[in-house]
Amino acid sequence: MVKNLKHKEQKTEIVVQGIPTSPGIAIGPVFIYSEPTYAPELRIVSRKRVAYEIERFEKAIEQSREYLARIFQETEKNYGKEFSEVIQTQISILEDKIFLNEVRQTIEEKHFDAAYATFKIFRKKKEHFLQLSDEYFRDRAFDIQNLKRLILKNMLGSFQDIKLRKSSIVAAEDLSPTDTIRFHHKNILGFCTNFGGKNTHTAIIARSLGVPAVVGTEVITNAVKPGEMVIVDGNEGIVVVNPGEATIEKYRRKQKAFLIVEKDLLKLAEMPAQTLDGKHIEVHANIEFVEELDQVKKTGAEGIGLYRTEGLFLGENGLPSEDEQTRNYLKIAETIRPNRVVVRTLDVGGDKILPDLVSIPERNPFLGWRAIRFCLDHREIFIPQLKAILRANIYENLSILLPMVSSLEEIYQFRKVFEEVKKHLKQEGKTYNPEIKIGTMIEIPAAALLAESFAKEVDFFSIGTNDLTQYTLAVDRANERISHLFNHFHPALLQLIKKVIDVGNTFNIPVSMCGEMAGDPVAVPMLIGMGLRNFSVVHKVVPEIKNVIRHLSTRQCEQLYQQIQSVNTARKVQEYCETFYGALFGENQTKSTK
Ligand code: PEP
Ligand code: MG
Repeated sequence: MVKNLKHKEQKTEIVVQGIPTSPGIAIGPVFIYSEPTYAPELRIVSRKRVAYEIERFEKAIEQSREYLARIFQETEKNYGKEFSEVIQTQISILEDKIFLNEVRQTIEEKHFDAAYATFKIFRKKKEHFLQLSDEYFRDRAFDIQNLKRLILKNMLGSFQDIKLRKSSIVAAEDLSPTDTIRFHHKNILGFCTNFGGKNTHTAIIARSLGVPAVVGTEVITNAVKPGEMVIVDGNEGIVVVNPGEATIEKYRRKQKAFLIVEKDLLKLAEMPAQTLDGKHIEVHANIEFVEELDQVKKTGAEGIGLYRTEGLFLGENGLPSEDEQTRNYLKIAETIRPNRVVVRTLDVGGDKILPDLVSIPERNPFLGWRAIRFCLDHREIFIPQLKAILRANIYENLSILLPMVSSLEEIYQFRKVFEEVKKHLKQEGKTYNPEIKIGTMIEIPAAALLAESFAKEVDFFSIGTNDLTQYTLAVDRANERISHLFNHFHPALLQLIKKVIDVGNTFNIPVSMCGEMAGDPVAVPMLIGMGLRNFSVVHKVVPEIKNVIRHLSTRQCEQLYQQIQSVNTARKVQEYCETFYGALFGENQTKSTK
């Protein structure tokens, strides 16, 4: 929905409605972000630098060849010869000495840098093929185009730095988690996008960074010009373009009020999360980046209930080595000890694509080659990660969490890899601690239904409601068109959650919840009523969730859950929860400051 208002100064104030995904108010100039197009500018280098530029070109060619060889094998295995031939054609273009020599010669003679020389020669070749009447050659133009992109990507890095010279609000058609990570700590005031849903990883990262965000506006990039003033209201899901003075004033007041509430809650952070009837509820923090640790320490979190390690792999330096990972996990273990840190193994796939390993785009990436499935097929990535976790576990406060497990076989396969990992470490003479708890995410309905069997194989469960909601309700968490259907109050989801909590109690293994539902203050009383005693939430909301808990009695929460069992629509469940919450904190309060 878009509303226009004219101001005295003739700038049109435009109000765009989207989906609120990260709370807070941001006010500032807009930066419109689009994917890199790899169109390098002309750069002439000195004579001395020519050899270096040729070397850069050779290296990028080599990396591209290796990448294509890997993709060729995968394509042949999964799709057969007919498809892999396309890749073979591209490989043979990279073996065409005469063609590649043209680039080298251009660098030598014209002193163009490697990127511009590649761009120029490949473009010339593509245009040449496009002019030929034979269809075969016109198809080759597309191969050349793809190769140009691949080589430039390898040369310039998948993540050319995005330089925001001044603090800005980023507007984009869509932002992948990788894009969001690239903006990390770089003068970002807020995010607004055309696409995306509330529980995408991008939205979660924005919440982790404490940056207000609105997604799914459909039109924001068309409604705004670079540098124009924008307000992002992450509480209401509103973006105001070219706000008038009165509007800016109104939102400054809102911003101030929001920050005061946040500060007040932070003052209570160290108070325990104990219910009125004396039950202690554990509240841990979810983190994405090591840089969040300082903040986490201030929130009164009892530990890290979920460390999403993807940030390490999607960052600008590509795949981290075993040693780099060891240092990273050790830093977290050291900072948080004696409290616990749950390290989740790599959960790529879905909306989190590893740029260096993207192969063939998947038709249904969320149902595809994700998380444990990907890691079991990519042991060269999985094994170093597991080794690093064991090496970093010197304070015995780390545990391993496996994402997206859907069958017992995957647990068995993991155990085999794990034995191999320990063997490697022993052979290499590295110090490590084999005593470590292993848990699984419960985020696929199959895992919830098989909770009894899983409980015999692992030490703890962590319920991932973001994916469990997505897979139970068949609602893509990243699709803004159906985001109204993504509802963690759905009775079907509640049945699965209850089952997992009960199994945990029967088998005496800890069950925590680390999906976004755990950080929804309105859902917390019902979850406690269901028997949940361990929450892991974005660090920003730890003080709020602890404060909610201090206002609850477990008996009242159990009564609430009893009432809920008599209704069978998400709307009714939500109404019960909202009424309960409203009675405690007032109907309109989004943050509990009582
Ligand atoms: C979840 O699915 O609820 C979860 C915590 O994992 P992620 O959001 O990283 O997929
Ligand atoms: Mg998940």
